[in-house]
Amino acid sequence: MQIVVDLTRCQGYAQCVFLAPEVFQLHGDEALLYSPSVPDDQLPRVRQAAASCPVQAILLGEQVRADAE
Ligand code: SF4
Repeated sequence: MQIVVDLTRCQGYAQCVFLAPEVFQLHGDEALLYSPSVPDDQLPRVRQAAASCPVQAILLGEQVRADAE
């Protein structure tokens, strides 16, 4: 599944990094790096991360396409 993190919203709270460290990494204080292509075995963690993000910056699957339109 494809994901997008809206980095203008992301505040570097790092909830996602704790919940899905194989997909999200924090470099320095606020620079979030992530893999836009999520392997199936990481999906449950990524969904949890998206739900936990305090600013709803993580968009998943269909939301990514809707956002691009
Ligand atoms: S949980 Fe949300 S605000 Fe925090 S680092 Fe991840 S995307 Fe950014």
